[in-house]
Amino acid sequence: MPCSAVTLCVKKNGKIDIKSLQLAELEELVRDFGQPQYRARQIVEWLYQKRVGAFDEMTDLPREFRAQLAEQFAFSKIDIARVLGAPDTTRKFLFRLSDGSLIESVLIPASPALYGSRSDRRTICISTQVGCAYGCKFCASGLEGFSRNLTPNEIVEQIIAVEREVCEKIDNIVFMGMGEPLANFDNLIRAIRIINAPWGTGIGARHITVSTSGLAPQIRKLADEPLQIRLAISLHGASDEVRGQIMPINRRYNLETLLAACDYYISRKKQRLTFEYILIAGVNDSEEQARLLAKHARRLSAKVNLIPYNTVHGLPWSRPSQDRQETFLSILRERGTAATLRREKGHDIDAACGQLRLQTERELKAAIP
Ligand code: SAH
Ligand code: SF4
Repeated sequence: MPCSAVTLCVKKNGKIDIKSLQLAELEELVRDFGQPQYRARQIVEWLYQKRVGAFDEMTDLPREFRAQLAEQFAFSKIDIARVLGAPDTTRKFLFRLSDGSLIESVLIPASPALYGSRSDRRTICISTQVGCAYGCKFCASGLEGFSRNLTPNEIVEQIIAVEREVCEKIDNIVFMGMGEPLANFDNLIRAIRIINAPWGTGIGARHITVSTSGLAPQIRKLADEPLQIRLAISLHGASDEVRGQIMPINRRYNLETLLAACDYYISRKKQRLTFEYILIAGVNDSEEQARLLAKHARRLSAKVNLIPYNTVHGLPWSRPSQDRQETFLSILRERGTAATLRREKGHDIDAACGQLRLQTERELKAAIP
């Protein structure tokens, strides 16, 4: 391995994937190979503009250099295993990774502004881990536990693979797929830098939203990163009692610890925070919770996205009636909180992340005698 700067990067099958590297690291790398610095620009152009599938297709690189790269680096591609949904609706993509793991992404067509972006944006919801270790009681992603972190290239590749499949440019990214993004912090930041870079996929930081279940120390760490991305907090309960019932992480970082980390975050950033709040019938949809939620939102000048719960096969939870959802919303608005109620577009295809993978894994298990 000739390049010292890249040795920290996550390795796969003993080899680092070329698509996990930043431009500056590639520049160092080409120098170590005795090549001129502009070769690094040529490589990223092949990767993110022309989007070739192998080193050998990088035809303006010397043949011997291509062979050296192929020997030292992995160049993986993630395969789409299943697609659900039709064009103009929410579509779900199930990917099979090179080790056989399954992850999913959801492509959401133009919809009303949810995370501060314009309404005419094509949004993709991407995964950062295989499974999830945080075990929120309502969520399909945590049901089968945690397997592993995604590498930076596996995170970025979801965008590239979906764009290739649908022949459309994606212009808004939400990290709300499977897994807890802030538990895979270093790979997440690496991936975001590639997604955001003009030499990478070139998506503006304001069009990138990271969602977290509330890892307070990592929220502070993210606040210190010089990226102007958006942050969404999965609150789902406005008191420790209610939140603790459905989100085990609340035992490690209770509401006050989480909100204090959010105070720090907004002191360092220009963007407003968003609270995600799933409405689950009889669990967190009381008027008292709405009043407390409005109080927390006011403290942080945060917006609130209310999301009617998507039922998960095998879990007992359901969404409140439309009336109850509207009452909850009006309590927030009466108190001056900017709030939206998401009328789920993908309800009928199980849009809540983690579900397609779960269903596919169950089908596969059932098929094996
Ligand atoms: N782990 C991160 C990001 C992935 S989950 C987090 O928890 O924020 C993305 C969002 O989907 C979270 O707000 C999560 O609570 C929500 N979610 C999970 N299961 C859901 C379901 N069945 N219906 C609606 N939203 C769900
Ligand atoms: Fe993990 Fe987020 Fe699902 Fe909780 S809601 S289990 S943190 S993916």
